Amino acid sequence: MTDFNENLHIEKKASGQADINSVPFTEVEQPGPASLAQQAKGFWVTFSTMFKKNQTVQYPDVKAPTAPRFHGRHQLNRHPDGLEKCIGCELCAWACPADAILVEGGNNTPGNQMSPGERHGAVYQINYLRCIFCGLCVEACPTRALTMTNQPAHLL
Ligand code: SF4
Ligand code: SF4
Repeated sequence: MTDFNENLHIEKKASGQADINSVPFTEVEQPGPASLAQQAKGFWVTFSTMFKKNQTVQYPDVKAPTAPRFHGRHQLNRHPDGLEKCIGCELCAWACPADAILVEGGNNTPGNQMSPGERHGAVYQINYLRCIFCGLCVEACPTRALTMTNQPAHLL
């Protein structure tokens, strides 16, 4: 009676598959233990790192300052007289590749003059779950109503 391995061997031979017993075995020479000098060299890398300045901070207790041109939270700006710069044109929303902006324009009235022109942004929302901080909305804005601060959006 043939055992399982022998059966497998016979089946593989019959199906034309490579026989595992015919694969040549090559012995690889294993390196011996590292010399004392090599070990000291390795430990020196670890030891010298202990005295290097930390590149990380204990977030969220400590927040590292962002770069001056960091793309952060958006800001809607006003004219010096207090009127809003946004005219509700929706160009920022159309430029947004992530479909993150919702703008609804509204008409200015004599009793409710929100911006210098005829229209103002009555509703302005940015969905920060969608925003990828590309800045295309800022580039699209014709009145510079929309800019980006360098404040990370998740910190506010
Ligand atoms: S920064 Fe980019 S993704 Fe974010 S709202 Fe503006 S256009 Fe959309
Ligand atoms: S922020 Fe600029 S682009 Fe967006 S609706 Fe207002 S004026 Fe238009």
